[in-house]
Amino acid sequence: MDALIIIDYTVDFVDGRLPCGQPAIDIEERVIALAQSHLERGNEVVLAVDLHEEGDPHHPETDLFPPHNIRGTEGRWLYGSLQELYERHRNELHWMDKTRYSAFAGTHLELRLRARGITELHLIGVCTDICVLHTAVDAYNKGFKLHIHKDAVASFDETGHEWALRHFQNTLGARIYENDRVIRV
Ligand code: ZN
Repeated sequence: MDALIIIDYTVDFVDGRLPCGQPAIDIEERVIALAQSHLERGNEVVLAVDLHEEGDPHHPETDLFPPHNIRGTEGRWLYGSLQELYERHRNELHWMDKTRYSAFAGTHLELRLRARGITELHLIGVCTDICVLHTAVDAYNKGFKLHIHKDAVASFDETGHEWALRHFQNTLGARIYENDRVIRV
């Protein structure tokens, strides 16, 4: 069984307070297409969405990044037409807050996937070399098979993006896709 995990595709991470910018804007169409195709197949689709409290002195990211994805702000809305898709499919898409880079850190994600017999994860969203990377490493260590869609992940750091794709393929054994076809990076 497969699941699609859509990571941090929110206003703040695309063109808001901690933006990936144009590369993240450019993947919108593919993010929507993949979400729709997994929904049509009845697959589990998880929205893993960063959640922070303003100025939290105990959070390690407070000293590293500008405030982002603050509870109750529009920065946590899903970017572009993903927000509309979510509103249309609220019962099928599973919204899951996370407070660290990895979607597995301190969340119920693993329990939820195991309960559904899911062994293969498709990862899309941002940033390729931060939250997608940390989620992929955790998934690998937990024994999930990985599928990463090159045309539906993005980063503000092109070098980091390319490095992470090679790491997914060469070190985590992930299949890398472009337009739903397996490619080598
Ligand atoms: Zn964060």
